[in-house]
Amino acid sequence: MEKDGINVDPLEIEKFSQLAHRWWDPNSEFKPLHEINPLRLNYIKELAGMEDKTVVDVGCGGGILSESMAASGANVTGIDLSKKALKVAKLHLLESGHQVEYRKITAESLSKEKPQHYDIVTCMEMLEHVPDPMSVVQSCAELVKPGGWVFFSTINRNPKAYVYAIIGAEYVLNILPRGTHEYAKFIKPAELARMARNAGLSSKEIIGLTYNPITKVYALESDSSVNYIMAYRA
Ligand code: SAH
Repeated sequence: MEKDGINVDPLEIEKFSQLAHRWWDPNSEFKPLHEINPLRLNYIKELAGMEDKTVVDVGCGGGILSESMAASGANVTGIDLSKKALKVAKLHLLESGHQVEYRKITAESLSKEKPQHYDIVTCMEMLEHVPDPMSVVQSCAELVKPGGWVFFSTINRNPKAYVYAIIGAEYVLNILPRGTHEYAKFIKPAELARMARNAGLSSKEIIGLTYNPITKVYALESDSSVNYIMAYRA
């Protein structure tokens, strides 16, 4: 569903807005984002650096990744379309003392305003919530400086991903609220790779993000069958 020609599903924004007040509660629906954050932050840092980098975090939500990148010395802008999530993100800065510029704007619009502006573009756990992921990938490619880095993370589409990301997380382990994810919107690495290539980005790495339901531990490893991060350079 697109509204006024904008690449957004209003029901997705509503879903995240309703939970927004719990964004920084590490035991809430957002627990997985809190737990994976140090892993993804380190991964991005190791490849792209962070100190004094200019970063845009697309679909930043309550700002878990945005704030951690700012805490690592980057100059971060976080964008999202959920007013409530952005409000929570801004309020949290008062508590943490970090600095992030939060804006309610689409990646598509920001890419017209600030083309080739950012050293690093991050777009995590967001592509599976938009009607037209290619348009977001294209905008991320336009936002990054020549030679800069773009990181995407999303969920793979195959029977195992269905079992882990929907049945396991939403119905068995109750880690996520039911209806958080829609199987048809999951994206295979080859599909994301094609989108990125068409946007002129060159592929650097893919890494899997795994969850062990017994030990309850997340890890970055080669298994990208469920969740994964892809790193690109412009
Ligand atoms: N990237 C954050 C939050 C992921 S949750 C993190 O990984 O910690 C997904 C976020 O995408 C939500 O905050 C939701 O409001 C946002 N979102 C969904 N569709 C969007 C769109 N079209 N434009 C911008 N943000 C969007």
